[in-house]
Amino acid sequence: MAHVDRQAWDVVVVGAGGAGLRAAIEAREAGMRTAVICKSLFGKAHTVMAEGGIAASMGNVNAHDNWQVHFCDTLRGGKFLNNWRMAELLAREAPDRVWELETWGALFDRTPDGRISQRNFGGHEYPRLAHVGDRTGLELIRTLQQKIVSLQQEDEKEFGAHDARLKVFQECTVTRILKERGSEANGRVTGAFCYERESGRFFVLEAPAVVLATGGIGKSFKVTSNSWEYTGDGHALALLAGAPLINMEMVQFHPTGMVWPPSVKGILVTESVRGDGGVLRNSDGRRFMFDYIPDVFKEKYAETEEEGDRWYEDPETNRRPPELLPRDEVARAINAEVKEGRGSPHGGVYLDVSTRMPAEVIKRRLPSMHHQFLELADVDITAEPMEVGPTCHYVMGGVDVDPDTAAATGVPGLFAAGEVAGGMHGSNRLGGNSLSDLLVFGRRAGLHAAEYAAALTERPTVDPLQIDAAEAEALRPFSAEGGEDADGTGHDRGPAENPYTLHQELQRAMNDLVGIIRKEGEMYEALKRLADLRVRARRAGVEGHRQYNPGWHLSLDLRNMLLVSECVARAALEREESRGGHTRDDHPAMDRSWRNINLVCRLADPQGDSRAADPALGQIRLSRREMPPIRRDLLELFEKDELAKYLTDEELSR
Ligand code: FAD
Repeated sequence: MAHVDRQAWDVVVVGAGGAGLRAAIEAREAGMRTAVICKSLFGKAHTVMAEGGIAASMGNVNAHDNWQVHFCDTLRGGKFLNNWRMAELLAREAPDRVWELETWGALFDRTPDGRISQRNFGGHEYPRLAHVGDRTGLELIRTLQQKIVSLQQEDEKEFGAHDARLKVFQECTVTRILKERGSEANGRVTGAFCYERESGRFFVLEAPAVVLATGGIGKSFKVTSNSWEYTGDGHALALLAGAPLINMEMVQFHPTGMVWPPSVKGILVTESVRGDGGVLRNSDGRRFMFDYIPDVFKEKYAETEEEGDRWYEDPETNRRPPELLPRDEVARAINAEVKEGRGSPHGGVYLDVSTRMPAEVIKRRLPSMHHQFLELADVDITAEPMEVGPTCHYVMGGVDVDPDTAAATGVPGLFAAGEVAGGMHGSNRLGGNSLSDLLVFGRRAGLHAAEYAAALTERPTVDPLQIDAAEAEALRPFSAEGGEDADGTGHDRGPAENPYTLHQELQRAMNDLVGIIRKEGEMYEALKRLADLRVRARRAGVEGHRQYNPGWHLSLDLRNMLLVSECVARAALEREESRGGHTRDDHPAMDRSWRNINLVCRLADPQGDSRAADPALGQIRLSRREMPPIRRDLLELFEKDELAKYLTDEELSR
């Protein structure tokens, strides 16, 4: 066995976005020695990019708001596929998490009477998003980092070392979760195998509890708002450790990404633009969203432009404009307009604030958007409309967790929170609910991971053979050679493959065949291409050495993207209906009999090395699981007529 550094901790948190940092703070405050590890620089995570705000029913701008309304909006947005207990916890606990941030130093925008200001957002009945201009995520992360520094200062005083009980390993990647020897099924977690990106050095963080907080999977798609590190690592790590994923067919395409110039295609245009009064128009100048209000939302949205416009001033007596429908509805509408030939010159539609607000208001309320368009597209949004179109943004599917403790199903010691966890948002996430999710479930994951670790009478020990296997797997791209039976499966022949080419082909397949509108034949084709890519990816080869070698890193990330993409494609093929982030051209209607079905993905070969999986069948096995019935007091928050649109007759009569 080669020598690999090992360090012992109580809790390891993988990911330093909002969920990871909130989990780490909680675990450290519970007295646990906690390590945080992140792939990029500390402070650079998707959470930083979140613009719009944190959804929390504080009722500061409209006193009618409360957790029950937030809960109902969240279930409507997710088309009732949500894990209702998670939605309840989010709605109940989000205000406390926002106030807590304020006590830790967050500076939110204020109402004229000095309270935390809240803004409108798609799918939220009342102004609900606590915000800091359009840079809320930045303030959230700044505050959590500040809190971490203050905890480290305490440790410096007490132990003479600032990182005695809370240490950050930045620019380091986890490639495997380690478990007890010989107990693949239900084996307890023992730690994580990691490498330093800069030096290529391997090391192991030993810990009985690991929290996955690795964010999303967007880099498997060609057009995406996600940045380079979002390759579905946490999803894949969970699968490889034996924990199932749920709802992976539910991928959110944000309606408004930049479409031009090509170098920035996919970069997000925040929903606040519409929340603050921006409107969508097609090439005929028509506000087309009025033509796309689905029946389930008809009563809640304005029928005329005049009513929609009045709502901004007087939301009590008017209904909201349809530009603020949930994201899946708006994305599909834009897609349809472009397909019908009413798109903008670069294949999007127009999003206009210039005719709706004075220039100085735009610059004050949307400073990042003003800067982004000026710098990247040479467009002054105070004077002309933006061109926008759908972009892969968020995954609702993820690790199957216990709603109260964030414990991953079937793997003692593994926890997951934030975007990597599944269930909370059902088939579609409402804007602003992610940041509240990170805080509510990040805290819960940290707390329960700490409790789990503290309660152990003896700690499971790391299996050295697993370290060897993880090391060999990580080094394979340096010895990838083509030729006969290059990967030992008896199937694969051919030259070494370029990881960048494989990545591009994967992104194209997912974008074109499992994208915003899905068809059975295309998804079969996607699965075929994924099978081929999987075989080729085993020959992904790199030259050079382990010191900062992005080609090598990508070769390792490909394993994760292929696993996750197969989950998305298989689940999307299985779900023969359209709901939220999953639209089937061949099954366009929402089907009530699918409402309470979770699609569960597991690794076909639970020994962890997916070599043995039949390439034709793939690496993933899919099963259906019924969700527990929604608690009666929660159901009673809805009108029966509304429930009848989602629940089956049998569920209603029960
Ligand atoms: P992230 O913040 O994504 O952090 C993941 C962390 O995991 C990173 O530190 C990464 O380096 C690390 N990591 C990943 N893989 C590994 C690995 N193998 N080893 C070690 N570390 C790893 N949501 C809202 O609610 N409101 C908004 O206004 C909003 N705006 C958004 C704007 C943009 C442009 C984007 C992309 C998203 C936006 N979202 C918004 C969504 C929201 O920001 C994300 O869903 C959320 O921040 C995810 O947080 P997280 O803590 O789960 O993970």
